[in-house]
Amino acid sequence: MSTVDVFLKLYGIKKDELLEWGKKNYPELGGNLRLLLAAYIREVLGQEPPVEIFELVPKVTVKKVIDLKEDEWSVIEVYVARVVSERTYTACPICFRKLTNGECTEHGKQEPIEAKFVDVVVGDDTAEVVATLTPRVTTRLGDIDIVGCYVRMRGRLTSDMRFVVSEVTILKMPKTRREVSVEEVREERFEEVPKIEVEEKPQEEIPEGVLNTFRKLIETFEEVSLPELEKWARRRGFKGDVVEVVKRLGYVIEDGVVKMRKGTLS
Ligand SMILES: [Zn+2]
Repeated sequence: MSTVDVFLKLYGIKKDELLEWGKKNYPELGGNLRLLLAAYIREVLGQEPPVEIFELVPKVTVKKVIDLKEDEWSVIEVYVARVVSERTYTACPICFRKLTNGECTEHGKQEPIEAKFVDVVVGDDTAEVVATLTPRVTTRLGDIDIVGCYVRMRGRLTSDMRFVVSEVTILKMPKTRREVSVEEVREERFEEVPKIEVEEKPQEEIPEGVLNTFRKLIETFEEVSLPELEKWARRRGFKGDVVEVVKRLGYVIEDGVVKMRKGTLS
C-alpha cells in the first residue's frame, strides 16, 4: 500500500472520487495523487493536509537500525511496536518551548497548546530502538496513531541510544487495530531513565554517574524546566542540589528553564 492509499483510507476518500474531483478542479496536476489529496483535504474537508502525505525526500538511503551511529542524521524503515511513555506539557504554539505563566521566553504571551513527547519501540529485521517523537512530530500527526504501522523515520541517535525523530512517513497501516487506551499504556509504562542511586553527600562529591544521567536527560530535551528537572531527580531519589548539578555540567538556567547553552534555538 502506498502512502497515498494509507491517507485515502484514513480520510475515507475513494481513489476514483479523488481523481474525478482532480480532473475537474486541478487538471494541471494530472495524476499527482499526493497533491490532489492535499488539495481535497484542504478544500473539501476544510482541514490542513498532513505533511506526511508528501514524498519530500524521494531518494533516501535507508539505514538498518543496527547500523545507526550516534549523532548522525539517518532514515530508517521500521515497525512501530508499542508506546513506552508519553510526556505532555503546555507549550508555545510557535516554538514548542514550555510556557512559564503563559509566557514563552522567545515569543512572549501565547495561547498555550498541549505538546507531547512520545517514546515508541521501533525495529527492523536487525534490531529495535526507542524512538522519541518530538512535539513537532506528534502535533503534525495529530490523531493519527502510528502504533502498529510500518513507517519511515528521519532522525538522529542520541548518546543515550534514543532515536529522536523529526519526520515520520507512514508506509503501511495495520490490518486490524485494537484500541489501547493511553491509561493502559501509562500503567505499564517502562521506567524512562535509570534510577539515581545516591546517598546524601556534600555538593563537591556529585558522582560522575549522576552527572551523566542528568547530562543525558538535558541533552535529550535540549531544554527542560527547572521544577520539572527537580521533580524528575527527586522521583529517582536524588537528594542534592539540582541547580548545583546543572552548573557543574556547564548548562545555563534562563527564566527557570535549564538549557544546553544560552539562547538555544528551538
Ligand atoms: Zn515560543
